[in-house]
Amino acid sequence: MNYYGVFGNPIAHSKSPLIHRLFAEQTGQQISYEPLLAALDGFPEAVTQFFKAGSGANVTVPFKEQAFVLADQLSERALRAKAVNTLKKLADGRLLGDNTDGAGLVNDLLNNQVELAKKNILILGAGGAVRGVLEPLLAQHPAEVCIANRTVEKAEQLAREFADLGPMTACGYDWIDAPVDIIINGTSASLSGELPPLASTLIKAKHTICYDMMYGRQTTIFNQWAQSQDAARTLDGLGMLVEQAAEAFYLWTGVRPNPAPVLQQLRAQL
Ligand code: NDP
Repeated sequence: MNYYGVFGNPIAHSKSPLIHRLFAEQTGQQISYEPLLAALDGFPEAVTQFFKAGSGANVTVPFKEQAFVLADQLSERALRAKAVNTLKKLADGRLLGDNTDGAGLVNDLLNNQVELAKKNILILGAGGAVRGVLEPLLAQHPAEVCIANRTVEKAEQLAREFADLGPMTACGYDWIDAPVDIIINGTSASLSGELPPLASTLIKAKHTICYDMMYGRQTTIFNQWAQSQDAARTLDGLGMLVEQAAEAFYLWTGVRPNPAPVLQQLRAQL
């Protein structure tokens, strides 16, 4: 039996244990996967304790940056993200840190037949989630990625850091009004029922596709706005969650699960 889990605080609400149990059932892997509550000031100790027997762990809020510092070796995408959401114990006992959030988003977009190559993509927000998705997104060769953020300096900083990977611009919300092909909401504004101040002209009717990294039982506030502006399609972040988990499962076990039925089951249980 191999031991896995997800570190966070709080963690009881996490859907990761269910997702990984379903992946294990589907692929016939013998694994245990548990929620791992770490004290806010006790993450390194909790990791050391867990990996005495554990093979791998996911890491969620608020520990992704600490996991980045703690890992002995980092994947290229984790280095770029400056955050780690997946830890794997290597054969020599050292910990590999990876970040599968961006692959999760890109895979979910591609599963939904959203073309990214040569598209103008607007990303809202410049926090940890957006930093994590930029490398895999730019690898799809979009025409341009524009990052808009309330604190413009943070968007500018990200645009500078990732400029070597593809065409990037940065701005504040009041500077943008030209229609784009794809809008991705990576702000946490929806958590408090808010929307960034967005121009209605950003959406070209029946053309622009909108993706909210948030998800919920009801249509998210950002996707409600997008639908009211006649967006071609709206997608939420539940698929991203399942896809990032699939990527972690693959890293740990070498077996790639089929995320589609798991996503379906999760959606039904929201
Ligand atoms: P951070 O706290 O790192 O960043 C938050 C971002 O939201 C910042 O850019 C912040 O702007 C912006 N923001 C917050 N409130 C407002 C507001 N009222 N108006 C405008 N902008 C606002 O959070 P994360 O990057 O970690 O997470 C962002 C979102 O992504 C969350 O909703 C999270 O649930 C989701 N997520 C989903 C995942 C999935 O698998 N589906 C995975 C990871 C994250 P400023 O810089 O100006 O403060």
